[in-house]
Amino acid sequence: MAIQAAEISAILKDQIKNFGQEAEVAEVGRVLSVGDGIARVYGLDNVQAGEMVEFPGGIQGMALNLENDNVGVVIFGSDRDIKEGDTVKRTNSIVDVPAGDELLGRVVDGLGNPLDGKGPINASKRLVADVKAPGIIPRKSVHEPMATGLKAVDAMIPIGRGQRELIIGDRQTGKTAVALDAILNQKSYNDAAGDDESKKLYCIYVAVGQKRSTVAQLVKRLEESGAIDYSIVVAATASEPAPMQFLAPYAATAMAEHFRDNGRHALIVYDDLSKQAVSYRQMSLLLRRPPGREAYPGDVFYLHSRLLERSAKLGDDYGNGSLTALPIIETQGGDVSAFIPTNVISITDGQIFLETELFYQGIRPAVNTGLSVSRVGSSAQTKAMSSVAGPVKLSLAQYREMAAFAQFGSDLDASTQQLLNRGARLTELMKQPQYSPLTNAEIVCVIFAGTNGYLDKVDVKDVGRWETGLLSHLRSKNADLLADISDNDRKVKGELADKIKAALDDYAKTFA
Ligand code: ATP
Ligand code: MG
Repeated sequence: MAIQAAEISAILKDQIKNFGQEAEVAEVGRVLSVGDGIARVYGLDNVQAGEMVEFPGGIQGMALNLENDNVGVVIFGSDRDIKEGDTVKRTNSIVDVPAGDELLGRVVDGLGNPLDGKGPINASKRLVADVKAPGIIPRKSVHEPMATGLKAVDAMIPIGRGQRELIIGDRQTGKTAVALDAILNQKSYNDAAGDDESKKLYCIYVAVGQKRSTVAQLVKRLEESGAIDYSIVVAATASEPAPMQFLAPYAATAMAEHFRDNGRHALIVYDDLSKQAVSYRQMSLLLRRPPGREAYPGDVFYLHSRLLERSAKLGDDYGNGSLTALPIIETQGGDVSAFIPTNVISITDGQIFLETELFYQGIRPAVNTGLSVSRVGSSAQTKAMSSVAGPVKLSLAQYREMAAFAQFGSDLDASTQQLLNRGARLTELMKQPQYSPLTNAEIVCVIFAGTNGYLDKVDVKDVGRWETGLLSHLRSKNADLLADISDNDRKVKGELADKIKAALDDYAKTFA
């Protein structure tokens, strides 16, 4: 016969009463049962929801379910060393993690413990992992660009500092690659910013439920490129228990808020939130919370909304800091209408939709330009970029529509033919290899060339070669022009447009 936790509680309470130890029960408890990373604890009468508790041997846990007769505790670590009857102590603090500049360049777990073997971290402060997001008053509208260095993203789906842009797609479609390129792209900007903290962008990458080898490769890439100096990696890999995977995104956000709240800028990548939702579902089911749609608990929307709301652009009175979020969601068979994808789509300010089919056609990054949007739009672009990028999305949309029709007939009028030609070249132009982000000015020139017909006479298969040539031509011969475009933050028209045209004509003569 199985004995209910409630019955055991009642018996224990009775016995303790006889010994007159009731006061102590408020601060300590005893493990009634333990398993699957969850402990049921008797006592801890004064414990708060979300409070950190300690098991013997220093194993930590978080009180989540406060019930009449017992407390449900999730365990951050292995539950193997915890036995029935062990004492559990309150710590009187809500789960918090180390934060501060000391974490830059480090790889830590969801509780802020170092994983990289570079010694202990003497963090200057601790911040509560799960805090309330800034309200409406401190915020300001998003208006500064967060350049990813990817042509397809910066031109068509611009991301601003303080924005939340979802990266969504099936497995192996280059989701991590987009986020990683965005991190690597900050290197040149951060180097150029020097000591100007108001320009720099710090990056926090959170790995949830991934293979350790994948995370190790990413860290290696960050180290090789020097990007690790302005980054923090928080890893809760697949081998970690569910509570750690649940906590890691919150902990990492607290580390990022250190920058946001001190008038600095940070970018946080959650890779990926589907796995966090799965770990939360596991925890909730084990805590016997009622399952809802797809067996997720009813508050799974709140799990992601309270996390992503913490990304914000703060106003003048609050230091002008920002936290930009790039959450990642993995879909199954391209189904964006499943529960978790629709939730996160509705929370974010837009999505970058990556498609398997495009990926295998060689269109990489495999951005579906029709389904991808940024609800912040051109206010997140520099003036130069927004003045040249407008026609691209339209041309590509028209091209997709026409291309479907054109398959059926060969009798096409001149204007349709022209549209197809332009579209094919622009599609080709949007391709970009990994780890080769371009500067804002370079993207402006490339897009300008594409939309002003400089490529119309170039063979589709030569577009890549043409672009590489153009970039090295611009870098070696037109450094002033590039500086002009990026420095002055002015529109591409009149004199500036003429200068770009002159440079492109100059290059056209040399290309064969
Ligand atoms: P997972 O679902 O496993 O996390 P993912 O969607 O994050 O996958 P990535 O790991 O970023 O995808 O990329 C998958 C593969 O595609 C990698 O081998 C990566 O090197 C390659 N890849 C990604 N982007 C590009 C690109 N622009 N050009 C060439 N190869 C790319
Ligand atoms: Mg990935």
